[in-house]
Amino acid sequence: MLNILSKCKLCPRSCGVDRLNGELGFCKSGKSIKVARASLHYWEEPCISGTNGSGTVFFSNCNLSCVFCQNHQISQEDIGKEVSIERLSEIFLEQQKRGAHNINLVTPSHYVPQIIGALKIAKDNGLTLPIVYNTNSYENIDTIRLLEGYVDIYLPDLKYYNNKYAEKYSGARNYFKYASDAIKEMVCQVGPCKFDSNGMMKKGVIIRHMMLPGLLFDSKKVVDYIYTTFGNTVYVSIMNQYTPLNKATNFPEINKPVNPKHYEAFIDYCLSIGIKNGFIQEDGTVKESFIPKFNLNGI
Ligand code: SF4
Repeated sequence: MLNILSKCKLCPRSCGVDRLNGELGFCKSGKSIKVARASLHYWEEPCISGTNGSGTVFFSNCNLSCVFCQNHQISQEDIGKEVSIERLSEIFLEQQKRGAHNINLVTPSHYVPQIIGALKIAKDNGLTLPIVYNTNSYENIDTIRLLEGYVDIYLPDLKYYNNKYAEKYSGARNYFKYASDAIKEMVCQVGPCKFDSNGMMKKGVIIRHMMLPGLLFDSKKVVDYIYTTFGNTVYVSIMNQYTPLNKATNFPEINKPVNPKHYEAFIDYCLSIGIKNGFIQEDGTVKESFIPKFNLNGI
């Protein structure tokens, strides 16, 4: 499967570079996996973090370049350590040993072939945890298809409805088309959400949307699309943690927090169109935990 990297078209950038022989594309990722952090994470949605934490593995680099990225040192400044596929499989097993509820692959798109290799080894060596694929959704549908049978829970963003904002703030063309097609494939693969008796998610899709300042109308279009397409088979996570960091200071219209009244209005809108399964955030801080607000069933 690593051969895919010899003419890399893993994501919509379709760079076509030979990553096996040192060429780098937009994501600046080569043949080796680069990991920035592996830890237990307590600030995901409660059905993902639980009490023990989610076994996050943050991969270095990214195929988007969001001007407001909160993790820009990891996603845009190449921070991290190269690890082999075998070592990545050990990291997964170490997370399991520490009591993680799941393995949470954060920004994994540009390393999919290597991650599948590591998952195969780890599963052969006793990995039984659900696998969470936590993505910005700028994905090729063929790459998502490779993950069938390896991923249990998809945690995709749906950042924008109007592509002009994706181009302006994330440097990505045709974001909505790629992201929405990828999310349809994810829902097809794992089906409706399933939880265990402790409320931990075992299968399903949680679509995340982080509001941006001044774009309430675009956020409404995002959830209209989600509800029209998937009804209540998916969960929706509405995030208000936007902070004007990184290069967002160069864009006056988003160089400010989200208006709390807009966030409240947006939650009301989600409820009014019929969304029943979702999470909201209590305030705008990154560390604030999600709370199940729309529906307590199964949580
Ligand atoms: S994964 Fe990286 S190299 Fe491959 S197409 Fe996407 S941005 Fe380009």
